[in-house]
Amino acid sequence: MDIKTRGLRALCEVFFSKSGGLKSPIELEGFDTEIEDFVERVARGFFPFLHHRFLTALLMLFCIAVAKLPRSVIQKLNERSYLVRTLFNTIKLVTVFPYAAREEIKETLETKIETGKPKVPTPEMVRENIIEFEKIAEPKVEIECDVLVIGSGAGGAVVAKELAEKGLDVVVVERGFEHTSDEFNGEMTDTMPLLYRKGTGLITLPLPTPSFSLKPWVMLPVGDCLGGTTVINSSTCYRTPDSVLERWTEQGLEGLTPDDMKPYFERVERTISVHRVSLELMGEAHTRIAEGTERLGYSGRPLEKNALYCDATGVCQYGCPIDAKQDMHVTYIPLATQAGAKFYTGFEVQQIETCGGEVVKVGGAIRNRRGERIGKFVARARIFVLAAGAIYTPTLLLMNRIANSSGMVGQNLRIHPCLLVSGFFPEAVYGWRGVSQSYAIEEFFDEGFIMETTMVPPRLGALTSQLLGEEFCRIMEEWKKAGAIGVMINDSDSIGRVLPLSPFPYALPKLEVEALVLYRLGERDKRVAVKGVAEACRVLLAAGATKVCTGLVRKPWVRGEKDIQEILSVERKIKANEFIWSAYHPQCTCRMSVSPKHGVVDSYGQTHDLENLFIADASIFPECVRVNPQISIMAFANRCADHIWETRF
Ligand SMILES: Cc1cc2nc3c(=O)[nH]c(=O)nc-3n(C[C@H](O)[C@H](O)[C@H](O)COP(=O)(O)OP(=O)(O)OC[C@H]3O[C@@H](n4cnc5c(N)ncnc54)[C@H](O)[C@@H]3O)c2cc1C
Repeated sequence: MDIKTRGLRALCEVFFSKSGGLKSPIELEGFDTEIEDFVERVARGFFPFLHHRFLTALLMLFCIAVAKLPRSVIQKLNERSYLVRTLFNTIKLVTVFPYAAREEIKETLETKIETGKPKVPTPEMVRENIIEFEKIAEPKVEIECDVLVIGSGAGGAVVAKELAEKGLDVVVVERGFEHTSDEFNGEMTDTMPLLYRKGTGLITLPLPTPSFSLKPWVMLPVGDCLGGTTVINSSTCYRTPDSVLERWTEQGLEGLTPDDMKPYFERVERTISVHRVSLELMGEAHTRIAEGTERLGYSGRPLEKNALYCDATGVCQYGCPIDAKQDMHVTYIPLATQAGAKFYTGFEVQQIETCGGEVVKVGGAIRNRRGERIGKFVARARIFVLAAGAIYTPTLLLMNRIANSSGMVGQNLRIHPCLLVSGFFPEAVYGWRGVSQSYAIEEFFDEGFIMETTMVPPRLGALTSQLLGEEFCRIMEEWKKAGAIGVMINDSDSIGRVLPLSPFPYALPKLEVEALVLYRLGERDKRVAVKGVAEACRVLLAAGATKVCTGLVRKPWVRGEKDIQEILSVERKIKANEFIWSAYHPQCTCRMSVSPKHGVVDSYGQTHDLENLFIADASIFPECVRVNPQISIMAFANRCADHIWETRF
């Protein structure tokens, strides 16, 4: 037997033991090649210098070695060692993704998405204003305009539309490419490589602690396409809470009172059709959780969404297949092109050149859809607006050593760390047949967390369980009975920072602009998370779930209040790395401040150091927004655009 077959067998024995009606991976023809392909895809993003065959062979050898250990030892290693658990989780990830993408597995899991539904009409895109240099060899593009915007996500697209509609000559350079709903089939293994940075998202590395205790890494997906992260977001819309705006106003920031901001919230909400999700679209799982919330007397409500004629396909995070989600690529970007704005896609900004306290030009690489560098560009403008998101905006500033007299660029990273808790009902509720995030439990906002009902595909549900073997497979199989709650924490004592991975863009022109994201979960935030998980368990049990998967390695299952009390009684002993963490809202890395000593931009997004450089994305918030941030980012970007128009033209 060759190493691949032996490895696959070992993998099935240890991580993927057959359960019920699900086929074992070993029974799937050609599955070993699919694993290899998937490893290649992941490796291309994270370890471009290592060959995927080598990595697959290492993975298989590891599986063979682990399979020789007694089951009880494997179980103990999984529970006690964060490093081993991380390896196990990585193996499960690279195998379960291609596994659950198989048509026959989807049929068994009942997760097949109905494609070919009618599309929702959206504003027409002026095609000639979307410029891609895919087919041109070695061009040298020179751009001249009034306003150059870098990035086309929640911040950049809004600035582009607002200023183009005022009659300015606006150009947006975006390193990702345009993708349309025709490509969005709801299958995450197909669409993530098109839409997500690195094909899977980023990962934060833990900042070392003084005691050298191992803190967890956090999955941090961000978008990498025309429309940015809005194309993959869950379409939940929250205004910045009044209490947050009032705090920022107390810090001396101008024009940020709830009354000042109201017209901006209203304008963006109108443009992306924000309205409350209907009970009908919430679906069975979310409705049961809402009833559980009411039974406990907790405050909760259906969420506001930017989805028009939503058909509850439940795959918002993999691109809406019917254009119901009103993200940037179907709203602000077409409207901006109608007003004359041009979008250059596959254009990655690398260099920003300054002279006499102003930016004079930016330059960078042009790539084709295979990621090959096919040329370069230079852009000159009167005003430059950086909107590359809270990870890449500070990366660009640090790489170019500009706008950082405060020393705050890349500091203060906040991410709203999240945990997933899933409850299993006695019968199937098909959580994915509803809006994927639809109800909020806001009872504990002042204690530092909110909970939102959410639904992920079965493979992700199984991955957040940290279970092995048959139990791991059973979670996938039973996922049709699950309803889930995402616990989202308002970072308080956690610390994060962003650094450029390669600080020498000029020396290594072939490398992409990439960031090193460091984040250490604080003790207080961990305690809030434990309380959040306990409350999510309570809500799910009150909703009728008979067992709840906590995601906590030392206590994976909760069946009643006694189990919840058991978790709370050891709250201080629980380590942050006993959970699987993810986060979706990086922010605050170029924070606003009145004084140039304490922050990077002023109240309107203008950098303190450079007269004609503005920032309009999630990086400008002085502290975390405490709710899903897209509406805040868009409203602040709209305000920044108005300020540019009023003061510069
Ligand atoms: C899975 C997921 C679900 C989410 N769900 C919600 C939700 O329901 N509600 C909510 O409010 N928020 C949600 N968010 C977060 C929200 O979408 C983001 O906070 C928001 O889109 C960030 O806006 P931005 O303008 O800061 O950055 P982005 O939207 O990320 O845009 C930045 C753009 O800059 C481009 N770029 C980067 N570097 C360069 C460069 N060097 N040159 C050229 N272009 C560059 C990127 O490709 C990208 O298109 C979610 C996020 C994720 C990942």
